[in-house]
Amino acid sequence: MHNTTRSQELFSAAQTLMPGGVSSPVRAFRSVGGQPIVFDRVKGAYAWDVDGNRYIDYIGSWGPAICGHAHPEVIAALHEALDKGTSFGAPCALENTLAEMVIEAVPSVEMVRFVNSGTEACMSVLRLMRAFTGREKIIKFEGCYHGHADMFLVKAGSGVATLGLPDSPGVPRTTAASTLTAPYNDLEAVKKLFAENPGEIAGVILEPVVGNAGFITPEPGFLEGIRELTKENDALLVFDEVMTGFRISYGGAQAKFGITPDLTTMGKVIGGGLPVGAYGGRADIMAMVAPAGPMYQAGTLSGNPLAMTAGIKTLQLLKQPGTYERLEAVTQRLIDGILEGARSAGLPITGGSISAMFGFFLCEGPVRNFEEAKAADTARFGKLHRAMLERGVYLAPSAFEAGFTSLAHSDEDIDATIAAFRECFALVA
Ligand SMILES: *Cc1c(COP(=O)(O)O)cnc(C)c1O
Repeated sequence: MHNTTRSQELFSAAQTLMPGGVSSPVRAFRSVGGQPIVFDRVKGAYAWDVDGNRYIDYIGSWGPAICGHAHPEVIAALHEALDKGTSFGAPCALENTLAEMVIEAVPSVEMVRFVNSGTEACMSVLRLMRAFTGREKIIKFEGCYHGHADMFLVKAGSGVATLGLPDSPGVPRTTAASTLTAPYNDLEAVKKLFAENPGEIAGVILEPVVGNAGFITPEPGFLEGIRELTKENDALLVFDEVMTGFRISYGGAQAKFGITPDLTTMGKVIGGGLPVGAYGGRADIMAMVAPAGPMYQAGTLSGNPLAMTAGIKTLQLLKQPGTYERLEAVTQRLIDGILEGARSAGLPITGGSISAMFGFFLCEGPVRNFEEAKAADTARFGKLHRAMLERGVYLAPSAFEAGFTSLAHSDEDIDATIAAFRECFALVA
């Protein structure tokens, strides 16, 4: 059977050492119940735990592992970079290379600043929106996550929702007050916010495909409508592509849907498994960023050679022909198998995929926003999650997270996963 003794020992010890035993909340499995698995190593599509169990992994370190974990070319490039030192705290040529690649790939990005996480990218871009427009209010969508900076911890999706904290204690009321929220896919609500706050809204930030309230896609016309509304109101549009960047397509969701925002945040994939974030956009706006302009933002380890190397190598691998066709096909087959499996067990389900991102909700669809997502049967998802774990499939430990595939997921992995789902759906029906 599935023996996880060592994981349990380590996690018990961890709980005395770190809050909740983890370095990031969702890892603690609170929303699916049961003990988390402690990993020992990862490779390709697989993760092995400290008890020696192997899992087909559909989290991929929450996105970065799109080429498969520990890709040999990424690892080799890192070994080489390591010998030259881990951090310069000074300009390095690798920053130019990654910047050129990002600018070439992402339609909205004319200039880019590297930081160390998606959170950092989003908090910096918010300061930039305010600096450029001279306005303080922003609009975000319920269920969209933009990192854990104060002003974004309002209706912030899975991690926060899972803990039952609509707003985290410690966020000043005044800070949260300038964050206005609307339901995703609801243009009228956004129109109303603009009308009620004339001349006060700096901009709108959104996940162009939502991954942090489960997998939710923009309805036809939604992104176009937001683009028009922001233009009409002299407000900026920010796509948070920390999850979707280089995943939905090489140029992100903005290339896929043909909508160009003013600014974009990135992370996850562009770090290739090392801590990287980035924000970029129109050159006239980026000119505000210090030292070119007055908006201060800095970072000791930003643009360090290891992180840049992993990012460059990952993007080079992704740029090869056929990559996204392969990701699309694998993911489509997986989600078709999942939906079919649930239906043949008589379970309500709705879901979908775009490129290497997928998700499903255990309820009747459609799910167009976070409110509708809440209809999903989370207790049943918890049971499903545990049963899948016991069969060697590692899904995100929350009913409100997207799933990720990689170039390393083989047809055999997908077949095995679908077979496991079939068994588990029957168990939890
Ligand atoms: C993961 C994520 C972030 C935060 O990135 P971190 O690197 O975890 O700080 C921000 N926005 C979106 C859309 C994300 O998925």
